[in-house]
Amino acid sequence: MTILKYTPIREIPKIRETLRATFKAGVTRPLEWRKHQLYQLARLAQNEADAICDALNKDLSKPKLEVLMAEVGAVVERATKSAEQLDAWAAPEHPDVPDWQKGWKPTLHKAPRGTALIISPWNYPFILNSQPLMGAIAAGCCAVLKPSEVSPHLSQLVTDLLPKYLDPSAYRVVNGAVSETTKLLELQWDHIFYTGNSRVARIIAAAAAKHLTPLTLELGGKSPVLVDSAYDMRLAAKRILWGKCNNAGQICVAPDYILVPRSKQDEFVEGLKEAYKTFFPDGAIGASHYGSIVNESHFNRLSSLLDRTKGERITDVFEGRKDTARKRIEPTVVKNVQDDDPLLEEELFGPILPIVPVDSLDEALAFINARPHPLVLYAFTEDPNVKQRLIDETQSGGLVFNDTFQQLAVNELPFAGVGQSGYGYQVMKYTFDTYTQLRSSIDIPKEAEPFLQLRYPPHGPEAVKALSSAVHLSIPESAPSGR
Ligand code: NAD
Repeated sequence: MTILKYTPIREIPKIRETLRATFKAGVTRPLEWRKHQLYQLARLAQNEADAICDALNKDLSKPKLEVLMAEVGAVVERATKSAEQLDAWAAPEHPDVPDWQKGWKPTLHKAPRGTALIISPWNYPFILNSQPLMGAIAAGCCAVLKPSEVSPHLSQLVTDLLPKYLDPSAYRVVNGAVSETTKLLELQWDHIFYTGNSRVARIIAAAAAKHLTPLTLELGGKSPVLVDSAYDMRLAAKRILWGKCNNAGQICVAPDYILVPRSKQDEFVEGLKEAYKTFFPDGAIGASHYGSIVNESHFNRLSSLLDRTKGERITDVFEGRKDTARKRIEPTVVKNVQDDDPLLEEELFGPILPIVPVDSLDEALAFINARPHPLVLYAFTEDPNVKQRLIDETQSGGLVFNDTFQQLAVNELPFAGVGQSGYGYQVMKYTFDTYTQLRSSIDIPKEAEPFLQLRYPPHGPEAVKALSSAVHLSIPESAPSGR
């Protein structure tokens, strides 16, 4: 039985044309219309919560509470708050200018970019479709959603529900895999918002470049965790294991590997065991609050990594059981992992926790800096000097001290990568800004004419002096050291 109905390729250009006509007709411009669509998206999430949980259970065995917290609840809250804050976000701004320009009424208009394409992955598919969509709605854009074929139940559900809640002349879903997405990417869009892996991101960026389309890339990578020797190893272990177990490690911000002082490695492992026993008294394999690996190919990829690692697998407490039929892998801890280990090659995106022992903070920083900039850098430390060194001497999309995963609860901070982990910003106002062009305008009154006389040729000595006065501005003293 086919779960997901792919969109016929010949229909894709027509869908785009419909949306472009809607945008051109100004349907999406009024703020009250946008607010209604945002509230409708919140209603979709709230009313259909059971169906969403059910679809994600089928696709990923995702525990219901995880779905309600991280996907459904977040969409209800953020869509509602976006509607409530829209008037403030969309209001024109008047920047402060020198007195002689004030009469020109310098203004920043918040102009919608047009019709957007949103391409989303399978791991948190409800929120990762809805979140970029709510920014597009708020900004007054039309949008096509291209959900992932890897989570077919959820993608089909969103396809069925969207037209019941949102205006189908402005928001449509295209389903499919590479051929359908390739067709979408041949067409011109006014913004593309891609969430997924960095290999496909390169394909998207090349396609966007052909049309000079602005692009947001929300990618992943290996997010390290650094544990300072003075920190409470048991607390760090508990908070790290919790972050790793969400969606069985299949989240872009999952702690990927842990840099621990060599002398504290065993104490840290004991902390992990203690936390694991409390989270999963009978092991994770059959627990209803633990998810599955999305498909056989990812299950085999993770199994192969565990077969190839040269690190020491912890087998006490962490039994590392696998259930091939249900595609489940228990959280697996590997210690004494060396620099060239297969576990350190690519983003793990699964429930494997490699521990890399280090002899100093300098060694840990060098280890992090020798790799592409991660999406998140986690650090367990209460030492202000260590915190400042991490801020000054590393690069990452975000920086989280003394916890994992919890940064996703803060609506007011932008979520973004840097370098290989992506570019562009999202969440709430930041997503609105992504789809908004800051369109500047001035309006010079007739009465300004006497003040503009000097600019007209021919220019006498007095005009030359006045018009070139900026050249002679006094520049403050400074020194190469910055002091
Ligand atoms: P995926 O396989 O579902 O792919 C994402 C999208 O790309 C899908 O819609 C798919 O149809 C499309 N796609 C696949 N191959 C394509 C091709 N050749 N041409 C055009 N489009 C194509 O999901 P994934 O990439 O496996 O997702 C996991 C990755 O996403 C991880 O790296 C994770 O870290 C990252 N991620 C990032 C964020 C974030 O917000 N930064 C959030 C979630 C996941």
